[in-house]
Amino acid sequence: MREIEELVRPNIKALKPYSSARDEFKGTATVFLDANENSYGSPLSTAYNRYPDPLQIDLKEKLSRIKGVPAGNMFIGNGSDEAIDILFRIFCEPRVDNVIICPPTYGMYEVSANINDVEVRKINLTANYQLNGEAILQAADSNTKMLFICSPNNPTGNAINAAEVEALVQHFDGIVVIDEAYINYSKQPSFINLLTKYPNVVILQTFSKAWGMAALRVGMAFAGDIIIKYFNKVKPPYNVNLSSQQQAIEALDNIEWVNTQIKETVSERQRLVDALRELTIVNKIYPSDANFILVKVVDAKAIYDYLAQRGIVVRDRSRVELCEGCLRITIGTPEENDIVIQTLAKY
Ligand code: PMP
Repeated sequence: MREIEELVRPNIKALKPYSSARDEFKGTATVFLDANENSYGSPLSTAYNRYPDPLQIDLKEKLSRIKGVPAGNMFIGNGSDEAIDILFRIFCEPRVDNVIICPPTYGMYEVSANINDVEVRKINLTANYQLNGEAILQAADSNTKMLFICSPNNPTGNAINAAEVEALVQHFDGIVVIDEAYINYSKQPSFINLLTKYPNVVILQTFSKAWGMAALRVGMAFAGDIIIKYFNKVKPPYNVNLSSQQQAIEALDNIEWVNTQIKETVSERQRLVDALRELTIVNKIYPSDANFILVKVVDAKAIYDYLAQRGIVVRDRSRVELCEGCLRITIGTPEENDIVIQTLAKY
């Protein structure tokens, strides 16, 4: 197995990162004339005239107490999409290296690879949406740097078999990125505990789903010291704005609210499944550990259009390989779910 440092692009290893004013001065001061900010304030009530903490220390320390991960093993991004992009920039040499993804899965892994001009090797999930571990290991070569596993997976909704994930972490000679955007809705525990055993694991989570803060763009990556060091080297200096940092810190005081909503979402998911199962237009509903369900219907395009004409927008995944004929429906409020059920019953 290669060391993490051997996987890093040579230019990133040699990179002298940007050093901001906020990075350089560590003492206490009352007069800040080091960052060309506006010393007169801003037209807003909050002191937005100052650049925010580049390393989001207060947020990381509070998260650390909740997640059981040291603050030094966290990267906070402008959404977890930023973490995905930075991983490509740390590890993948354009036109030389490659990554493995397991479709059908979250689309940004491939888009980020394409933006960074990195080859994508696709090893489809099996018919029951689990990993094909043997084929994944066979597809890897000395230029394979990362494997993306999404659990619970988008758009299929299922959790990925934990023993198979750990076996891949052990045998895949590269970085294994486990995207847990939907983990709060899952019966299966997080893979966070793998971090202390394996240096090649990166866990992605987000404030966009269960925490209900998609608009604020706050994503998390948890990883070993070396990987986090490179995240900090490559990231834009002030990648998470002050307002988002403050709101995320405030949100963390409201775990009870979040847990209540998770329970409600999970119970509504079951109610929606039970109701849709009764409809003749529904052929199959895949088991979900997420806040959406994948539903195979008789005529996905027509049903998508029918719903859209009535102001209900779902995601048409019917042209995605292994999702033929499927719509992906996010779990709504009880009222929204009633509207979906009643509208589909009249189709
Ligand atoms: N991972 C998965 C699996 C997702 O479905 C999404 C959002 N749809 C993301 C990551 C991106 O999340 P964020 O809002 O944190 O960028």
